[in-house]
Amino acid sequence: MQPALLVINSGSSSVKFAAYEAADEAPLSRIAHGRIENPASPEAAFTQLFDWLAQQTGGRALLAVGHRVVHGGAQFQQPARVTPAVLAQLETLNPLAPLHQPHNLSAIRAVARLLPELPQVACFDTEFHASQPWVAQACALPRRLTEAGIKRYGFHGLSYEYIASALPAHLGAVAEGRVVVAHLGNGASLCAMRGRRSVASTMGFSTLDGLMMGTRCGSLDPGIVLHLIQQPGISVSALEKLLYEESGLLGVSGISGDMRTLEASAAPEARQAIELYAYRLNQQLGSMAAALGGLDALVFTAGIGENSAPMRQRVGSGAAWLGLELDAEANQAAQPGACCISKTGSRVAAWVIPTDEEGMIARHTQALLRGNAPAQRVKPPVA
Ligand code: AMP
Repeated sequence: MQPALLVINSGSSSVKFAAYEAADEAPLSRIAHGRIENPASPEAAFTQLFDWLAQQTGGRALLAVGHRVVHGGAQFQQPARVTPAVLAQLETLNPLAPLHQPHNLSAIRAVARLLPELPQVACFDTEFHASQPWVAQACALPRRLTEAGIKRYGFHGLSYEYIASALPAHLGAVAEGRVVVAHLGNGASLCAMRGRRSVASTMGFSTLDGLMMGTRCGSLDPGIVLHLIQQPGISVSALEKLLYEESGLLGVSGISGDMRTLEASAAPEARQAIELYAYRLNQQLGSMAAALGGLDALVFTAGIGENSAPMRQRVGSGAAWLGLELDAEANQAAQPGACCISKTGSRVAAWVIPTDEEGMIARHTQALLRGNAPAQRVKPPVA
């Protein structure tokens, strides 16, 4: 029996996981997946997970664990085998992604404590954007700050890398042209690609920038931050909470940060939140098209991108000036899976393509182990 690779995507309130058969051929086949909500502790979650996996997979040996790590900074531009030194470097990036990085790293630490011999691989959401030109990465701040790493990194890279790998099968030669991918989940961003490489993105230094999101504000005049921080009684952590957790769809609607809930609501505040979300999406789509010098294809992915026909319709209609003619019926009828939602003859093609960040991490983990590390077989603990 082939051993298994485990992929862990550890967030603030849940741990998503998927196990793959560590076979030689790609794509790797997924043998189990799931989500643990509000775990008491990472150790408790993983003890339970290893036990469950052993049962689900008939006691298969576990070859390695691949983790999603949101920030690789300037140091990590490819997946890395985790060592204590790597972990220490990654910890220095915690302040740059306070909502994600600490959870990603505590998952790695918990697995290391439970199974110290098991190889672990960190895969970064920033690495896909390392190909961006200097102008897309720099901020117009004093040079010494840019040189110290205050620059635009971009995120959702594992999702974009997966979509980039899937583009040729769906778009043919257009895949190599000017493509904008809209990753619209709880977090949301756009990535402009040419030749399936990132040339610009709406997320920048942090995961706050760019599009309006579920609970994050997206692009904001820095003057507002300066104004708020000078108000009596507001602390830096309260401001951080405001921008990351109390803004976006939730803040504007006052109802929910969840698109499905807002689409089902008759409240005018819900409608306004959706309108603002679409307005800013279209604005920033224009900026991505400008970075590309035009647009050949637009791809929707992640929770909202894959499931919300009304949001795709709004964005598609707003992008008519770019040459996109959305096929309203095809958009409405889109089922789970990849499908074209633009009219035949539309100058810009529009597609829905489901993302697979976990599958991408599994591929990286397998490749890194094959190239750099002897495979160690470690039996999961049996409860
Ligand atoms: P993700 O972070 O990729 O899981 O995406 C989560 C977002 O997708 C939430 O805002 C959900 O409300 C939204 N979503 C999921 N399914 C649907 C749906 N059928 N219609 C509208 N939004 C959806």
